[in-house]
Amino acid sequence: MAKVFRPFHPKTAYVPEGTSPERRIAAKYSIRLWCVRWARLLEWLYNTFAEMLLGLHPLWNAIGYGRVERPMKFVERRVKEFMFDCRMCGQCVLSSTGMSCPMNCPKSLRNGPCGGVRADGNCEVEPDMPCVWVQAWEGSQRMRASDQILTVQKPVDQSLRETSAWLRSTAAKAAERRDAAEPAAGGEGTS
Ligand code: SF4
Repeated sequence: MAKVFRPFHPKTAYVPEGTSPERRIAAKYSIRLWCVRWARLLEWLYNTFAEMLLGLHPLWNAIGYGRVERPMKFVERRVKEFMFDCRMCGQCVLSSTGMSCPMNCPKSLRNGPCGGVRADGNCEVEPDMPCVWVQAWEGSQRMRASDQILTVQKPVDQSLRETSAWLRSTAAKAAERRDAAEPAAGGEGTS
């Protein structure tokens, strides 16, 4: 019987041309790191967007916040997952953490890094990932509200997971405005 010719293939892992593990890892975190680099611009964009949402409070109120929740969450998830690797904790602190989402910390630390940050600024649990808190500090120093990173954050309220932080923050600001306006209105009536 004739011998079948088999071309020789070296027995090493296939490496696609023009790629490297380092480059793949860099690509994985590149958008997240871009957001930190442009934290000041994103801070301005978010503040403008938040003002717009607040301006539309009468509309959300008329429709009902409960009904708006689902479509708002849909949009929020897509935008924030793409940009920040958001985990939809529902209690967004990006404005205080230099646009670096602390929920990407494997230990879910909300108030600064653990003691295990590597000398190159990467995470001790995921050595290829830049520590989210090192990034948070760098991003925060680019922002106008750079000292907000010093605000002590509450523990994550798990009951708020998978809800829209945009909507909650809008409702809270609208309530604050109403409460601030009410004594003034009451004062006008009695004077
Ligand atoms: S802090 Fe929470 S809501 Fe904000 S990006 Fe991170 S997981 Fe998403």
